[in-house]
Amino acid sequence: MNSLTKHLIVISFDCLSSLDFSQLEQLPNFQKLLQKASYCKNVETIYPSVTYPCHATIVTGNFPKRHRIINNTFLQPGRLSPDWYWHRKHIQGTTLYDEAKKAGMTTAALLWPVTARANIDYNLPEIFPNRPWHHQVAVSLWNGSPLYLLDLERRFGHIRKGLSQPELDDFVLASTVHTIKTKKPNLMLIHFVDLDSQRHYHGFNSKQAQDAIRRHDERLGHIIQALKDSQIYEESTIIILGDHSALDESKVIKPNVILQQQGLINLNHHGKVTDWKAYCKSCDGSAYIYLKDGDDTETKTAVTELIQTFSQNSLNGIEKIYTAEEAGIRGADQQAFFMLEAHRGYYFSEQLQGDYIDEITDEDVKQKKYTVACHGYSPEKTDYKTVFIAVGKGIQPNKVIPTMHLTDEGPTFARLLGLSLGQTDGKAIEEILSL
Ligand SMILES: [Zn+2]
Repeated sequence: MNSLTKHLIVISFDCLSSLDFSQLEQLPNFQKLLQKASYCKNVETIYPSVTYPCHATIVTGNFPKRHRIINNTFLQPGRLSPDWYWHRKHIQGTTLYDEAKKAGMTTAALLWPVTARANIDYNLPEIFPNRPWHHQVAVSLWNGSPLYLLDLERRFGHIRKGLSQPELDDFVLASTVHTIKTKKPNLMLIHFVDLDSQRHYHGFNSKQAQDAIRRHDERLGHIIQALKDSQIYEESTIIILGDHSALDESKVIKPNVILQQQGLINLNHHGKVTDWKAYCKSCDGSAYIYLKDGDDTETKTAVTELIQTFSQNSLNGIEKIYTAEEAGIRGADQQAFFMLEAHRGYYFSEQLQGDYIDEITDEDVKQKKYTVACHGYSPEKTDYKTVFIAVGKGIQPNKVIPTMHLTDEGPTFARLLGLSLGQTDGKAIEEILSL
């Protein structure tokens, strides 16, 4: 297959929503780009709509049940800071960056989720130390491209302040600009988290979220300028996308409190999990209920009765219960026993003790115990779509795609680069391509 572009620059602005589109149209760099872009304001995300499964879907074209990044973090009952799906090896099947590499292209990824130890030429993986004895620089070096990372650290390390925003995204931007100028990659995947962070802690429509969108506009301007300065702008395709939207919340649901009270999770006197039969694994706006032993009919009956009783009262925050099969049909992990969908205004926590429902207070948010907006909800929730914008080489101008799916993005990127992801759940959006 012929490639339609020489440089594909994919920019993921985490949590960019369809509801942001009118603001984007007012900002100088987005506005200019949109004048010749093709776009979709109605991109349906995947279930559960959390960042790691979404980004794995974007590079594979498949639903989570197939690529197996079924949540952000692993099922590790009782662990306060569970491990994330950081590593490429957890993705089943091929990815866009693997196919690009196989075809001899130069690849780069900056804070793109699930790329630790991936075969990417210039890789700054998103992986953070979650054990007291881990150190950020060492963790990054081991899981990314060491020489490249040492160079970025030496040049731009002073910009970063741990994981805090907007400094982290400013570090990623400086690294992106430098990488464009010095490496001219054929495929570049960039993940900015500023907006998502601001929404979690200040709310969907907060001033902080608006400010983050304005900063994203400036970041976009710098990336476009870097492409121009490097004389590759005319041969480049720029993609801007979101992975999911977010919804505000005021209450937290803690199903493990009930499971623990019913003897399905055992704790020692320090409150640590010593054993469990059923466990609620949160995906924020949704949650999986897992059984340790899928053949344990007694636990199955007990959990089924519990969940059904609870969901009958809308004050308990559960909007829908999906069976394993129904979760699978929606693309989520069919190995869970149940999947729960929260009502608007609620989200799930894995906490084991206290009340079943917590009202979120300002103090909780200040201490980062709880957030005031999140994602993970079903794509069927209203006002919950994300966006896709494409412009440049290989893209026809001004095509408006009424609706598309997050699974369509990977196949579209593969087509632009003249690659194939094989049989995917999504399909290339041919209408926007200059074939
Ligand atoms: Zn996200």
